[in-house]
Amino acid sequence: MARDPRYDVLFEPVRIGPVTTRNRFYQVPHCSGMGYRRPQTLAGMREVKAEGGWGVVCTEYCSIHPTSDDDPYPTASLWDDEDVRSHALLVDKVHAHGSLAGVELWHGGRAAANSYSREVPLGTSSRTVEPAEPIQTRAMDKADIREFRRWHTEAAKRAKRAGFDIVYVYACHWYLLREFLLPSNRRSDEYGGSLENRTRLLRELIEETKEAVGDQCAVAVRFGASFGGLDEEPNTEEPRAMIELLGELPDLWDVTVHDYNREMGASRFVKEASLEESMRWIKQATSKPVVSVGRFTTPDTMVRLVNQGILDLIGAARPSIADPFLPKKIEEGRVEDIRECIGCNICFAGDQTGVPIRCTQNPTMGEEWRRGWHPERVPQKTSDRTVLVVGSGPAGLEAAVTLGQRGYEVTLAEARTELGGRVSLESKLPGLAEWARVRDWRTAQLNQLPNVEVFRGSPLDAEQILEFGADRVALATGSRWRHSGIGHWHDEPIEGWNRENVLTADDVLAGVTPEGPVLVFDDEHYYMGGVVAERLQRQGVETILATPSAMVSEWTQRTDEQPQIQARLIRVGVQIETATALQAIGDGKVELACAYTGRRRSVEVASVVMVTSRDPLDALYHELADRIEIARIGDCLAPGTIATAVYSGHRYAREMDEPESRARFRREHATVP
Ligand code: ADP
Ligand code: SF4
Repeated sequence: MARDPRYDVLFEPVRIGPVTTRNRFYQVPHCSGMGYRRPQTLAGMREVKAEGGWGVVCTEYCSIHPTSDDDPYPTASLWDDEDVRSHALLVDKVHAHGSLAGVELWHGGRAAANSYSREVPLGTSSRTVEPAEPIQTRAMDKADIREFRRWHTEAAKRAKRAGFDIVYVYACHWYLLREFLLPSNRRSDEYGGSLENRTRLLRELIEETKEAVGDQCAVAVRFGASFGGLDEEPNTEEPRAMIELLGELPDLWDVTVHDYNREMGASRFVKEASLEESMRWIKQATSKPVVSVGRFTTPDTMVRLVNQGILDLIGAARPSIADPFLPKKIEEGRVEDIRECIGCNICFAGDQTGVPIRCTQNPTMGEEWRRGWHPERVPQKTSDRTVLVVGSGPAGLEAAVTLGQRGYEVTLAEARTELGGRVSLESKLPGLAEWARVRDWRTAQLNQLPNVEVFRGSPLDAEQILEFGADRVALATGSRWRHSGIGHWHDEPIEGWNRENVLTADDVLAGVTPEGPVLVFDDEHYYMGGVVAERLQRQGVETILATPSAMVSEWTQRTDEQPQIQARLIRVGVQIETATALQAIGDGKVELACAYTGRRRSVEVASVVMVTSRDPLDALYHELADRIEIARIGDCLAPGTIATAVYSGHRYAREMDEPESRARFRREHATVP
């Protein structure tokens, strides 16, 4: 199909200093959980972005020196020639598809604890190292600043040797250069105090980087266009004055906000194009091209921002993760095939746990090199065996789509009239509407696959499955929240768990409104406990959220949502009881215990909602396992995240009839000299 001419503007080349990008699609720097430790995994992942049409593909934050070491979080690095070789691998792969490669040179300042290098962290003054390390930085003196500038220049030269086209001076988030920019930088020398002094180091770095590599490489500045948090009015006054001072120095402004919660906010709190207000003024302050992000997945929004003169380049991290082929799909007139990011931030959780990035929507993310998975190509089937998939949640849908794309004859049976399983239900919870995209992309793909037949309203029992006679059965029947309260805290059912007034998250998802006051017991620690409490309180039911953790929805620290979740629950009026375990359920009351001392107290409640753990719905498997070829996938195998369910469905489908060797993944090994 031809591209819609409305989108032509997105495919115009843009000059960035000495280099030119072939189009306006710009994959901004984003962490990958790969970094210097997994260079081949990284190169494979970035290559797919270039192949998918991103005109510029950048690295993650790339440390310039051992005084900026973020271990155990996996960063890139350009400390030495070994690093140059690793990056050259990535750059060559990006260039092979006609894209430019950018590197985000980074110094973490007081946000890099240097736990691996054991160097003393550096800062504008002696401050605590964040997040919450019991050590302080050394206040940089003039000699330190001179050294830092030299390191930056040396790293820029190494970047040029690796073949990069765009070299960053990284001046935002909570890292070293931003610390110099902030009003709290009250140094008494020429690097602190007045606005001019606070911007001096940034100016010097831009000039020195241009001097060192500017003949071949564009110099970009990543800059926060507004100070202020999620719920505050964007404060653009100081950033504006800074851009007025420095506006023409770099070749490109990569503009974002200092606050990660807003910049990469989860869709529960932040919607598409959320930074627009904060940075719409930038292009009036500089003649240089401007790129910014906003979880852009709709080409109409992209075109509007370009045509209104707000952006020159459409920046993306998450949209390029969920669909590395987003630009190609627009170019080929296949907009409806774009796998839109759902804003769940599971991608960030990979980095936060020190493992390669993974994505809810795109199960191939991070698997490009190690498993050889491609987001748009699957191996054709090698047998004519038919497959019955039972259940159309994320696992069943993904399996049916991937098997269908491989050419298998597939039947998908779903008990309910609506497809989507848990995502259809959960996307009705407050803020989670975009999660329905997991279902919508897959159902749209199924519509294009004549070899996949879908039966709704078809609950299958064992006899019916046998009667159907498929050569293989994939059981994707999901899971059910437990009433018993067994979870992280309790190994045994909670006393009184089987009373009538004890519900689970499934009841709330099914629309049941429990009698208040209700106690939601969250011992799972991801989003469900918090979002169920929010829903009930908003419905007017007096709600108490109890959790043995010291904070609500603790695991969401990894998806960068936790502070916002807790703030929202406080604002809507949920009574929060942290470090509290539910011990017993009685008549009109429950017994709660302090998670530290075990001290008990009684609280009057009319009902309880358990959010602790789930039972896989695998009875059919046990009935049929000895009789037919049947496999469990997704939550039916092991309850987990939507991402794990999609991955499970994809892997089942991709590996069907493939030799066992294909199922192994490659590992990167540290070399021995
Ligand atoms: P997952 O996350 O593993 O994909 P879900 O719980 O989201 O699992 O989806 C499971 C789906 O399977 C639900 O839509 C449910 O209605 C459906 N289902 C469960 N049991 C059967 C069955 N016996 N026959 C057909 N569909 C079923
Ligand atoms: Fe988007 Fe979630 Fe994928 Fe991240 S993991 S890119 S937020 S869909």
